[in-house]
Amino acid sequence: MAVNLLNIQKKYNTQAKCLNLLVKIRWGKTVKCPKCDSDKVRVLDKQQKRYFCKTCKVQFSVFTDTIFEGTRLELPKWFTTIVLVLNAKSGMAAKEIERNMGFTYKTAYYTAMRIRVGMIEPESKLNGIIEMDESYFGGKARKRSKLTAPNDPDISSVTLKRGRGTNKVSVVGMVQRKGKVKTKLIEKLTKRNLLAMLKQNARSENSILVTDGFRSYKELEKYIDRLEITHSKEFSRGIVHVNTIEGFWSYVKNGIRGSYKSISKKYLPFYLAEYEWKFNHRYYRGDEFEAYLKNALSHDKDLEYWKAESLQQVKKVAYEPRKK
Ligand SMILES: [Zn+2]
Repeated sequence: MAVNLLNIQKKYNTQAKCLNLLVKIRWGKTVKCPKCDSDKVRVLDKQQKRYFCKTCKVQFSVFTDTIFEGTRLELPKWFTTIVLVLNAKSGMAAKEIERNMGFTYKTAYYTAMRIRVGMIEPESKLNGIIEMDESYFGGKARKRSKLTAPNDPDISSVTLKRGRGTNKVSVVGMVQRKGKVKTKLIEKLTKRNLLAMLKQNARSENSILVTDGFRSYKELEKYIDRLEITHSKEFSRGIVHVNTIEGFWSYVKNGIRGSYKSISKKYLPFYLAEYEWKFNHRYYRGDEFEAYLKNALSHDKDLEYWKAESLQQVKKVAYEPRKK
């Protein structure tokens, strides 16, 4: 369900109202230190939501360790941009945010990337009927100047052409029927790498995996029951098909082709996180805006690590001068 932009703008039209919502979603009634989890906390600034942890003697705010860390952009503008991005089902280019919000390109880019970081969901295990399939992103590597990284495929020419053994970026996806999708960039589609991804993201008991005939998938039977669809012979056989994950791949590729000019391999995971979030919430009945903030502010340990890493990357990008 779409988030109503006007309602959000009316409800959260001041910095104070937005800050109150962030505190409520992040901590509820008990503010806890993001470093040591202690609730022995002194309020330093009630308005700015700044605190001091008496246990580990650090200052923090509701922004600490989140996508809002260090931002100078007012929160009502953040909230509007979040709604724009959430509602843009096929993606939203920074240029478009620049036009809608009156931001500079740099601010638009930076905000959108942070919003994508907030879409990275914590680990959870899929079960039931799970489809697993890989897809390849990017076409020919562009000729690049010495300043940019070599072997950094340009994803703008995403192609639906399938083929293993090319030098494109391979992404493996897993989807639970009527459930969530997860993706991972895997450089080498070895049995070991595929098995590791499967173990991390799926429960083996009471589950069944469906793949095509790519031989590395056979190895996964060590962990989980598996059914195979042979595409040279047939498209589907009852429940044996990989149509759900293939549908996800075309959703992502159409989106990237339509909305983003070029994505480098390094930043592809952020865009994948965006499409995963949107796919995973396509039938969501609750308040997607609050669900988004809860995820963006959540404090899962793995996610926290992911976020810290990702935010570093995003920060670096934000201050690099960008060529037109
Ligand atoms: Zn502390």
